[in-house]
Amino acid sequence: MTNRQFQIAVFAGDGVGPEIMNEALKVLSVVSDKYHIDVRWTQGLIGGSAYDACGTPLPEESLRLALESDAVLLGAVGGPKWESLDYSVRPERALLGLREKLGLFANLRPVVVFDELIDASPLKKEVVQGIDIMIVRELTGDIYFGRPRGVSLDAQNRRIGVNTMIYTEEEIRRIAVRAFELARTRKKKLMSVDKANVLETTELWREVVTQTGGDYPDVELGHMYVDNCAMQLVRNPSQFDVIVTTNLFGDILSDEAAMITGSIGMLPSASLGSGRGLYEPIHGSAPDIAGKDIANPLAMILSAAMMLRHSLNVPGAAAAVEKAVAGVLKEDGLRTADIQSAGGRPAGTREMGDAVARKLQSLKE
Ligand code: NAD
Repeated sequence: MTNRQFQIAVFAGDGVGPEIMNEALKVLSVVSDKYHIDVRWTQGLIGGSAYDACGTPLPEESLRLALESDAVLLGAVGGPKWESLDYSVRPERALLGLREKLGLFANLRPVVVFDELIDASPLKKEVVQGIDIMIVRELTGDIYFGRPRGVSLDAQNRRIGVNTMIYTEEEIRRIAVRAFELARTRKKKLMSVDKANVLETTELWREVVTQTGGDYPDVELGHMYVDNCAMQLVRNPSQFDVIVTTNLFGDILSDEAAMITGSIGMLPSASLGSGRGLYEPIHGSAPDIAGKDIANPLAMILSAAMMLRHSLNVPGAAAAVEKAVAGVLKEDGLRTADIQSAGGRPAGTREMGDAVARKLQSLKE
């Protein structure tokens, strides 16, 4: 059988980034062997470590590597060491630069509650059991980028702050299409979240999403105001399948939804555009636990699974990695420190990664 070849740009980054990336690469090696796909990777520098080595958080060479690869796998960037730097060279700037250059406009955050970790959730068991939500957040528009913006003086010499919420019809349509397509591969339910009762920008959002829905008669489309959605996410999250929303609302709702699962160390993400995607855990570089072999590598490993599904188009391999993660939690009962409250056997970063790689190896194809 001929192996399909893929080239991945790997940016481990700072803090726990290198530790959790090691575990994801272990798992990808098994995927390569077992699923007859030739996944190769090249490591590059990004974030604080790139600043230390090259004086910039996103060196040209790293950008080129990302642009020449089929997908980008990223650990995390940042840390106290670089907090006093000018904004223009802070590690986090590298993420914005990559998103922009790769044209990533859709951020996908799956929110899945594993049965074995249900006790780690701050919500009642009966509320969170079986939760499997996909949040699709628009990533390049809205109030974060709209102009005019800034703080200035008005005619009465008072200081005023201004930001502009703005979306073009095309920006709304492309994210809506992405969300409808995703809903089609799931339970075919899409909830669009806006504030159309008071914000004209999101009135347009609602109109364009509804129009787009005309091409997806098989997907059940609903609309919800953002304040109600914030409430429904903790009251009855199982009503949701796919949620699509604006940059600002998505930023807030996706963090709220993440907490339903109990641990930030479990949650992967994908950022997609029309070309290559970027895959990273939702958490940061966790400098407080870096270098101690206690970080949870599962968000990173599950990010690699998302890459297999969305960029490499090998859904079988992606599902197998997810099954291996579930198996390690259920059958082996392994728990890193962040998910210890759910009971089980304590494990370090490496032990957890080894267990997932072993489980994947032992799964029947
Ligand atoms: P953080 O997500 O790094 O950590 C928040 C808390 O969660 C910490 O207590 C940490 O120990 C814990 N945690 C995070 N990941 C974990 C894991 N895999 N396993 C176990 N516990 C985990 O957020 P922070 O402390 O606010 O930020 C630290 C640095 O990361 C900052 O410099 C920030 O700018 C940066 N950051 C980067 C990204 C990114 O690279 N995408 C995202 C957010 C924050």
